[in-house]
Amino acid sequence: MSFKSFKSLLYLMVVALAASVSIAQAPSQPTVWAARPDIPGFEKIVNDRLAAAQSAIDQIGSVKGTRTIENTLVPYDVAVRNINSAQYLSSLVESVHPDAAFRDHGTEMVRKVSAVQTALSLNRDVYRALASLDVSKSDPATRYYVSRQLLEFRLAGVDKDDATRAQLKKLNDELTDEQSTFERNISDDQKKVGVTDPKELDGLPQDYLDRHKPGPDGEIYITTNYPDALPAMKFSKSDEFRRRLYLAFDTRAYPKNKEVLERMMATRYQIASLLGYSSWADYNAADKMIKSGANIAEFIQKVDDAARPIAHRELAMLIAEKQKTDPGAKEIGDYEVSYLNELVRRSQFNFDSQLVRPYLPFNEVRQGILDTASTLFRVTFQQEKDVPTWDPAVETWDVLDNGKMIGRFYLDMHPRPGKFTHAEMSPILDGVRSKQMPEAILICNFPKPTADDPGLMEYGDVVTFFHEFGHLMHWILGGQQQWAGISGITMESDFAEAPSQMLEEWMHSPQVLASFAKHYKTGEPIPAELVDRMNRANAFGRGIGTSQQDEYTAISYDIYKSKPDGIDVDAVTTSDARHYTPFTPLPETHMYAAFGHLAGYSSAYYTYLWDKVIAEDFFGQFDHANLLAGPAPMRYRQTVLEPGGSVSANDLVKNFLGREQKMSAFQKWMGEEFEAQAAEAADSK
Ligand SMILES: [Zn+2]
Repeated sequence: MSFKSFKSLLYLMVVALAASVSIAQAPSQPTVWAARPDIPGFEKIVNDRLAAAQSAIDQIGSVKGTRTIENTLVPYDVAVRNINSAQYLSSLVESVHPDAAFRDHGTEMVRKVSAVQTALSLNRDVYRALASLDVSKSDPATRYYVSRQLLEFRLAGVDKDDATRAQLKKLNDELTDEQSTFERNISDDQKKVGVTDPKELDGLPQDYLDRHKPGPDGEIYITTNYPDALPAMKFSKSDEFRRRLYLAFDTRAYPKNKEVLERMMATRYQIASLLGYSSWADYNAADKMIKSGANIAEFIQKVDDAARPIAHRELAMLIAEKQKTDPGAKEIGDYEVSYLNELVRRSQFNFDSQLVRPYLPFNEVRQGILDTASTLFRVTFQQEKDVPTWDPAVETWDVLDNGKMIGRFYLDMHPRPGKFTHAEMSPILDGVRSKQMPEAILICNFPKPTADDPGLMEYGDVVTFFHEFGHLMHWILGGQQQWAGISGITMESDFAEAPSQMLEEWMHSPQVLASFAKHYKTGEPIPAELVDRMNRANAFGRGIGTSQQDEYTAISYDIYKSKPDGIDVDAVTTSDARHYTPFTPLPETHMYAAFGHLAGYSSAYYTYLWDKVIAEDFFGQFDHANLLAGPAPMRYRQTVLEPGGSVSANDLVKNFLGREQKMSAFQKWMGEEFEAQAAEAADSK
């Protein structure tokens, strides 16, 4: 670390100590907003980090003689850690600062840091320095770290000749443009569908109708934005209206994005070819658990085999539901699925999600999430009071393991004008053993309780809360490594969602929920019978949903699996829809044009299902009669979370399961509603 940034760190520490004198054992690491920076102050912090990174990179270049871990990998990791923290702080400011001007500066700094990151990933001297390291006598984590870094450098093309590197640079710039054009075309093309007869909105809840009154021209319009379109697809009783809306929804960004997608396919294929891969899917899989395009194809097939029987059982129920009003019906159009799903949930499972909300006031849920995580992961949480932050509602918490502080997190849980609008965990500092404690933040938008409003949450938001908290625990428990570059969630990107997807199961447990979900008026814990009913209703449609996810996965793979000449994207999407789902596609739709993940995830959309399969297999290792008891929680913490990115994710899976992941637990999860029914039928005999 350079003297300059050491000085600024010292300054931050003094400020932090001054702010926390009231705490008996003042944590040695300053909190993220301890210096209460203004805009220039914030930019200085980020610039100091980048300067520290640059001086570490210069140090690597100045080595004379033999390269060692000490003179090469140590400064490399200092550079990584400083660039990361510059990036985390800039995106934090961009996401949460209440002042728009501050946020704009955050965006500028995000761009600046990202350019520094790209430059490092293409730095040939640094690559050569790492490649010439002798790691044969190093510990396994260090060897793994160096090999991963070298792979990433090679995938960026650092070891290619100048002409090839120049061409790669040009192609990557083009790809960046094509990706952002593809995504922008989707968000710009908000379509609206006129309601020709107000009866077309029959079935929608009153608050929806109140928000959709006729405009000056006397017409009601429903847009293709999610908050408008999703409830209409679910609840409108008008088949004709849902058909028009679905057509509008699945023609967003068409025809514009057809051409953009074709260019993106060509650019990606050229990049993969220059780097020695026969397809983009193969290239993109090279640094992931799945390893190759062929393995993606095999996975799609396995999911199909597992989902098909359950999807067909669910389809029969949808058809029976449709026949109540259309006795001759034999098939279901894709535009009818949400609506019929909803009807079956109500008629067969007798569940109304509004029954659950009164048990979910925000403060009790937050405490319940902390208590559940504390018991499960065998850690304790302690709030730090009077910590300076960008908003008074933000809370600061320490994580203690056997009484020793091992990390810190911030909770920024309620909406604010200009704030990031979804829910996410964001890193703040990488954890590096005995140098820097890991820190992270949850940025959410849950209802804020007031004196006369308990801030009742939607059940889905409670599940999201624990899911995101799971990422945070992974960051902190995995953040006790020797190197920043293998700390926290730095393993293969197609593993990152598995632990949090698994944790969602804890929020389905009647015992876990009853420990904190208490009626805000009566204090009565949520009845197990209600939770069971909710679980069964929520389980209905998983087979169908998986078949649809498998369809999207197949599209994302088929579009990138080979040389793009002659691939007809319309033909691919129609044939994958017909093959993987049991529904009749609506003609004249072009869903790929608005399938934004074809830009970002590209051929890796399989990740969602891949991680779900691992998550359910992991979950099978826990004691389902008491999810917080037994040896599994600690074993999980030690074998899956604590290693961070110091071993390959395939090894994390094998170390916990004793084998590779299998499909059977996932298949059981898909058909849970039928199992519960069968058990009930057996009980009543
Ligand atoms: Zn997640």
